[in-house]
Amino acid sequence: MTTSPRKTAAVIGAGLGGLALAIRLQSKGIATTVFEKRDKPGGRAYVYHDAGFTFDAGPTVITDPDCLKKLWRLSGRDMAEHVTLLPVDPFYRLCWEDGTVFDYADDQDAIEAQIRKINPPDVEGYRRFLAYSRDVYREGYEKLGSVPFLHFSDMIRAAPQLARLQAWRSVHSMVARHIKDEHLRQAFSFHTLLVGGNPFSTSSIYALIHALERQGGVWFAKGGTGALVAGMVRLFRELGGTIHLNAPVDRIETEGNRATAIHAMGARHAFDMIASNADVVHTYRTLLGDPKGDKLAAKRHSMSLFVIYFGLRGLRPDLRHHMVLFGPRYRELIGQIFKGKTLADDFSLYLHAPSVTDPDLAPEGCSAYYVLAPVPHLGTVDPDWERTAPIYRDRILDYLEARYIPNLRRDLMTVRHFTPLDFRSELNAHLGSAFSIEPILTQSAWFRPHNRDERLENLYIVGAGTHPGAGIPGVVGSAEATASLMIGERA
Ligand SMILES: Cc1cc2nc3c(=O)[nH]c(=O)nc-3n(C[C@H](O)[C@H](O)[C@H](O)COP(=O)(O)OP(=O)(O)OC[C@H]3O[C@@H](n4cnc5c(N)ncnc54)[C@H](O)[C@@H]3O)c2cc1C
Repeated sequence: MTTSPRKTAAVIGAGLGGLALAIRLQSKGIATTVFEKRDKPGGRAYVYHDAGFTFDAGPTVITDPDCLKKLWRLSGRDMAEHVTLLPVDPFYRLCWEDGTVFDYADDQDAIEAQIRKINPPDVEGYRRFLAYSRDVYREGYEKLGSVPFLHFSDMIRAAPQLARLQAWRSVHSMVARHIKDEHLRQAFSFHTLLVGGNPFSTSSIYALIHALERQGGVWFAKGGTGALVAGMVRLFRELGGTIHLNAPVDRIETEGNRATAIHAMGARHAFDMIASNADVVHTYRTLLGDPKGDKLAAKRHSMSLFVIYFGLRGLRPDLRHHMVLFGPRYRELIGQIFKGKTLADDFSLYLHAPSVTDPDLAPEGCSAYYVLAPVPHLGTVDPDWERTAPIYRDRILDYLEARYIPNLRRDLMTVRHFTPLDFRSELNAHLGSAFSIEPILTQSAWFRPHNRDERLENLYIVGAGTHPGAGIPGVVGSAEATASLMIGERA
C-alpha cells in the first residue's frame, strides 16, 4: 500500500505570528520548517541578556491569553506545561504631568470611583463607551479577527456591521462623544498606539481593545515574553517541526502561479506551501521581486519606536508594571509623530517595570526596565539616528529621573537602546515601522495584504502586515486565518 507523501511548508520568520502558524500547521501533520534571519526567535519579541538582567525587546502586555492557549490545545497539550501566565494588576497606571494618576484594572467600581473624582458626568459616558467597546469586540474580534478577508464580498458581508458601529469614526472621536474630560479621553483612546494606530485616525473598531482587556485581563509570562516565545518553540519542536536560526531567506522562487522554493543558507529548499512572516514590503519587493512591493511601500505605515532597556541597582516599589507617562501634549504630539516634519521636543512614554511582577528578571536586589517613546518612521522624519540616539536617550532618562525614578543615573547598571534604524536593519521593517501597515479603515480587513496571495496560489502571509494586524492577539489571529487556508479548511 502506498501512502501519499506528507505536505511540506516553509515559514519565513519566527515572530509570534510565524511561530503560531508553524504550530498550527505542524499540529495538522504538515511538515513545517521555520527560517529565521536572527540568532534568536521571537522577532519583535526578541530578548536581551545584559549584566544578569533579562530584557524583553518588544511586547509585554499579553491580552486574550486564550488565543495562545488554543495553540497548545490543538495537539491536546496544555500551555501550562511550558508557560506560566501571571496576572498584572493594575493593568496600567496612567500618569500626567499635572499629578493626575489613573489606575486601570478590571474593576468596574474602582474605575468608576476614579472617573467620578476626575469628572463625575463621565461615569455615565464611560459606561456607554464600555458597552460600545464590547459590541465591537463581539463583531470585530470574535467574529472577524481570525477569518481571512480574501474577497471583496467578505468585506461587503461585514459592511452592515461596520456601518452600524460607525467604523468610519476614529477611536478618539468615539471616546470623545461619550467622555468629556481630557485626561479620561486620553486614558481610553491611547490603546491604538499599542498596535501602531493613531487614535485620531484609526477606525473606532479598535476601541475593542478596551473590551478585550476587560474581558481577558492583562497578563505577563513568567520569565518574560521571551519565555512565551521559548514555550512556543518547544511546542513546535516537540510536534516534530524544524526551526533554523541565523537563516535569512534571500529569495522566494516562483514558477507560473506557484511559489516553488526558498533560497536560504546557501541552498534551494523546495516546499509545497510557503508563508512569509517577514515584513510585507520586504516579502514582495526583496524576496519575490514583485512590483506589488512598491504599491505596499506607498501605503501608510505605522510609526516607529525608540526603546531604552536599562537595569537599576535597587527596587522601586512605588512603580507599577505597566505605566503610561503622558507628556504635555497629546493630539499635537501624536500629529507630529505620524505626520510632522521634525522629531518633537516633548514625548509621551510607556514605562515597563517587569520586576514588579517577576523579580527573577534582574539580579537579587535589582530591577529591570524598558521605556519607549513613539517616534516618526524613517519616511516621515530621519533625524540621523546614529547621532541623535544617545542625545535622545539621555533626555528621556533625565525626564524619568526628574519625575518618576529618582537616582536613576546613580543606580544605572546597564543600558542599551533600539532605534528606527534597528527596526529597519534587524527586522527588515519598511521605513523602520514598528507595527507594519497603519491600521486605518482603508488599510484593514480586505484592504490589508491578504492572508493568501492573489496570484501565487500557495504563497501565504502571516503577522502584523496581514489581516487582522499587529499586536499579539492580532498576529496570533492572523496565524489562525492563514492556517485555515493552508490546511484547506477554507477555499
Ligand atoms: C517595542 C514594542 C512593544 C510592543 N508591545 C506590545 C504589547 O505589549 N502587546 C502586544 O500585543 N503587542 C505589542 N507590540 C506589537 C507586537 O509585538 C507585534 O505586532 C508582533 O510581535 C509582530 O509579530 P509578527 O508575527 O508580525 O512578526 P515579527 O515580530 O515582525 O517577526 C518577523 C520575523 O521575520 C524575520 N525576518 C525578516 N526578514 C526575514 C528574512 N528575509 N528571512 C528570514 N526571517 C526574516 C525577522 O527577523 C523577525 O524575526 C509591540 C511591538 C514593539 C516593537
